[in-house]
Amino acid sequence: MSKPSLKIKTNSNFSDSIVEWYKIYGRHDLPWRNSVTPYKVWISEIMLQQTQVKTAIPYFKKFVRKFPTLRSLKNASEDEILSLWSGLGFYKRARNIFAAKEIIFDQFNGKFPTTFEKIIKLPGIGRSTAGAILSIAFNNGTPILDGNVKRIIVRHFDLPENTKDKELWNYSGIMLSKNDPFIYTQGIMDVGAMICRPIDVSCNDCPVSSTCLQAFKPKIKLRNNVKAVKPVIEMNLLLCRHDNELLLKKIDDQEIWRGLWIPLEKSVISKKIITNKTKLTKIEHHLTHRFLKINLYETHVKSKFKPRSNEESKWIHIKKIKKFAIPAPIRAYLENG
Ligand code: SF4
Repeated sequence: MSKPSLKIKTNSNFSDSIVEWYKIYGRHDLPWRNSVTPYKVWISEIMLQQTQVKTAIPYFKKFVRKFPTLRSLKNASEDEILSLWSGLGFYKRARNIFAAKEIIFDQFNGKFPTTFEKIIKLPGIGRSTAGAILSIAFNNGTPILDGNVKRIIVRHFDLPENTKDKELWNYSGIMLSKNDPFIYTQGIMDVGAMICRPIDVSCNDCPVSSTCLQAFKPKIKLRNNVKAVKPVIEMNLLLCRHDNELLLKKIDDQEIWRGLWIPLEKSVISKKIITNKTKLTKIEHHLTHRFLKINLYETHVKSKFKPRSNEESKWIHIKKIKKFAIPAPIRAYLENG
């Protein structure tokens, strides 16, 4: 591993520049930066793990409107948390929030843990998220290494693109401001998101351009034009309506959408129910790593029935579906179809 110390003599310049820049230009208006609490930092960091800031903002606001504090989350069911996540994707994050709050109330008396060792054991929290929570919520300087920080380090110190995470963590720890980790951590996140962006780089506006080894000539890694072929998942679902009620089931046996509610598979419903009047809508939906082709059949039934399936299912009044976690393409169909 190459020794970073020679190149990082400018550490305090680097962190001071980030801190001073953030005070003036940082995104102070992000909702999780208003009256910071460990709870809000935790929820926002989990949302931001696979979601862009712009997309996460309305979901974060909706989440804290319903559960403004950690205490208010105490009795939340996994379904309630999933329903607030509906449309945001990567639902494992919502299930992890449920599992983590159960641990917080069982083991930590409802108080968010304050040490790295305890925080990193909570479901859904890795080293970088734990570092962000400690630095921002507790002003306890702990490095982070998200995509933005990696990009800044690689460019600033002119490192090879394939530099190992172990070495990048080393740089991140040395560059961290010991005096003001609260501001520094938010600042480096913002410099990565607003200035040292993947393609549209603004070295002119960068607070660390005077020490950056790639300033004004950053190596831009252009994405390969050939689109990766995603595995296709095909679903044949049958939406049964009776008056204003819909028959939905809770998914508990598949990797995608686990814990969410969707119509039953067509194959588990008696063929007699499917008539000429059954309507078919074809839905295509891209997930990050999959492509879904959904054949969604819809039929009206004369009377409610219990499907012959071990899965949890319910007849739900159309006015109550908002309370259920329903995947975005199915929800869009139910609301507009
Ligand atoms: S000077 Fe340019 S390449 Fe270097 S860290 Fe700043 S924005 Fe990135």
